[in-house]
Amino acid sequence: MAAPKVAVVGAGVVGLSTALCITESCPSCSVTVLSDQFSPNTTSDVAAGMLFPHTYPGTPIHVQKQWFKETFTYLFAISNSAEASEAGIHLVSGWQVFKDTPKEELPFWSDVVLGFRPMSEAELQKFPQHQFGQAFTTLKCDCPPYLLWLEKRLKATGVQIYTRKVADLWELHSEYNVVVNCAGIGAQQLVGDKKIFPVRGQVLKVHAPWVKNFIRDGDGLTYIYPGIHRVTLGGTREKDSWSLSPDPGTTKDIFDRCCSLEPSLRGAQDIEVKVGLRPSRQSVRLEREVLSQGGVKLPVVHNYGHGAGGFSVHRGTAKEAARLVGECIAALQGSSSRAKL
Ligand code: FAD
Repeated sequence: MAAPKVAVVGAGVVGLSTALCITESCPSCSVTVLSDQFSPNTTSDVAAGMLFPHTYPGTPIHVQKQWFKETFTYLFAISNSAEASEAGIHLVSGWQVFKDTPKEELPFWSDVVLGFRPMSEAELQKFPQHQFGQAFTTLKCDCPPYLLWLEKRLKATGVQIYTRKVADLWELHSEYNVVVNCAGIGAQQLVGDKKIFPVRGQVLKVHAPWVKNFIRDGDGLTYIYPGIHRVTLGGTREKDSWSLSPDPGTTKDIFDRCCSLEPSLRGAQDIEVKVGLRPSRQSVRLEREVLSQGGVKLPVVHNYGHGAGGFSVHRGTAKEAARLVGECIAALQGSSSRAKL
C-alpha cells in the first residue's frame, strides 16, 4: 500500500493535536486537515485553556486520569523549553476555594498537578466567604497562540491544511484511506450524533497584569485565570443554548462575581467578551467505525465531545485517536496483502 492518506476534519485543539500525533506515530502517512473554521474562529480559541479536568460521567476515571496526565506531561515539557512563549504555555499557581468542604477532598487529578495541598489558614483569610481550599500549580494554554503553534508544527512536517466544510464523511472516501472526525459540536450535524449538545460559555478577557494567581470557586462557575497577556474571567454554563451573542447582563454578572473573589479586578481594563459552545457529551466519543456503501469501505476514527475539558485532555485523546488510526491502517494493509495472494 502507498503512503496511507489520512484526513482529519476539524482545526480546534483536538483536530490539530490529533493530526500532530498521527504524524508522530505514522511518519509514512500523508495527513491533511480539513476544516471550515480555523483559529481565531473556533471554540478552542474562546477557552480559558486551564489544565483543570472536567469529569466525563461515561468514561472510567482511570482513563480520564491517563488522558490528563499525558496532556500535563506534554505541556509541562513545552513550558520548560524555549518554545513556551510562542506556544503560549505557562505554569500558574493558585487556589480553588469552597464555601463548604467538598466530599472529595483529594480529586483524582491531585497527584498530576504540582504541589497539591490544602490551603493554610493564612491563605484562606483572603477569601472570607469560603471555608476550605486547595492550593496547587497547573498549566495554562493561551489558546490562540497554542493553536497557531500546532498549525505551524503541522505545516513543518508537511501536513496539508485546507479550508473545507465537510457535509458528510462519506464524501471523503475516494480521496482518503482513513478519516478522523474532530468536528467538536459540528459532529451533531456531520454524523447526526444526538448525544452531543452545546453548553454555552461566556467569558471576559481583561487587562489586569497584577493578577498572577488563578482563583476558582469550587462550584466551577466563577474563575479568574491569568494568561501571559490577558486574564480570563468566567463564566457561564448554559446547556442547549446555541447563541453566540454576548449577553451584557451576563457580562456584568461575571465581572461582579470575579470582583467578589478578587476585588482588585475593579481596576481591570480593556474588557473583551467571548462566547463559545462546549461540545458536551457524557463521554468523549473516541472509537473506530467503518462506513460502507456498495461494498466500498471507509474506516473512520471519531475523537469529539470534549465538553468543558478539551484542553485538559487533548494530548491524551489525540494519542489514543492516532493509535486507532494505526489500527485502521494495519487492517487496510492486511486486507490489501490478502487481496494480492
Ligand atoms: P472546536 O474548537 O470547536 O473545533 C472543531 C473544529 O471542527 C472547528 O475547526 C470547526 O470549524 C470544525 N468543523 C466542525 N464541523 C465541521 C464540518 N462539517 N466540516 C469541516 N470542519 C468542521 N477546556 C479546558 O480544558 N480548560 C478550560 O479552561 C476551558 N475553558 C473553556 C471556556 C469556555 C468559555 C468554553 C466555551 C470552553 C472551554 N473549554 C475549556 C473547553 C474547550 O474549549 C473544548 O473542550 C475544546 O475547545 C474542544 O475542542 P475541539 O477541537 O473538539 O472543538
